[in-house]
Amino acid sequence: MNLENHPEVDWKYLIKTIEKEAISRNAPVFTLKNFLKTPFQILVFAILSSRTRDEQTVEVTKRLFQRVNSPEDLLKMDVSELEEILRGVGFYRVKARTLKSMAEKLVDEFNSEVPRNFDDLIKLPGVGRKVANIILADAFNKAAIGVDTHVHRISNRLGLISTKKPEETEEELRRIVPKGLWNRVNKAFVGFGQTVCRPQKPLCSQCPLERLCPKIGVSGR
Ligand code: SF4
Repeated sequence: MNLENHPEVDWKYLIKTIEKEAISRNAPVFTLKNFLKTPFQILVFAILSSRTRDEQTVEVTKRLFQRVNSPEDLLKMDVSELEEILRGVGFYRVKARTLKSMAEKLVDEFNSEVPRNFDDLIKLPGVGRKVANIILADAFNKAAIGVDTHVHRISNRLGLISTKKPEETEEELRRIVPKGLWNRVNKAFVGFGQTVCRPQKPLCSQCPLERLCPKIGVSGR
């Protein structure tokens, strides 16, 4: 028996198991982001983290938060100064401009507050479906599933779903994961993907789900 042929997935067990494994292996997503306190900080981190390792994003955002803790602070800063601080994250020049426009929109249209709903969040520059869902789950504890490459890859490897694109993965997971667990999915899968079910050479022989996993798309399985 494996998860692919077993439609009655015990999601509570599954998420708890991969969370536990990721935490015991000090997955960066669980250990490095504790300094993020406000919705604004969580939003800035999420925008800066695309295509950048968590360790690098943490270093840069800590530097940034010594100077910036509100959209107004971002607006006051010159782009060149902001670029200098962001150097170290991927596409830092583009991201500096994105942060400035995002701050402008927050001030002009949202009273300097991070919106608490999906439709308003995706109006912000730098915020797509993934980031909007991560903000809802992490900053506001709302039921939302942020799907990034880890969530997409691992759900398919485990045979929980069979999808080609992250958008389809989000739709499928919303259909099959109990709503009460949605806001734990992203962190659990990301942590597990950073440590065990890695993109290259996953540690299948050490994986707590090995017995249940059909390892779909894993080479040499
Ligand atoms: S058995 Fe391998 S492919 Fe399956 S979840 Fe574990 S690490 Fe990933």
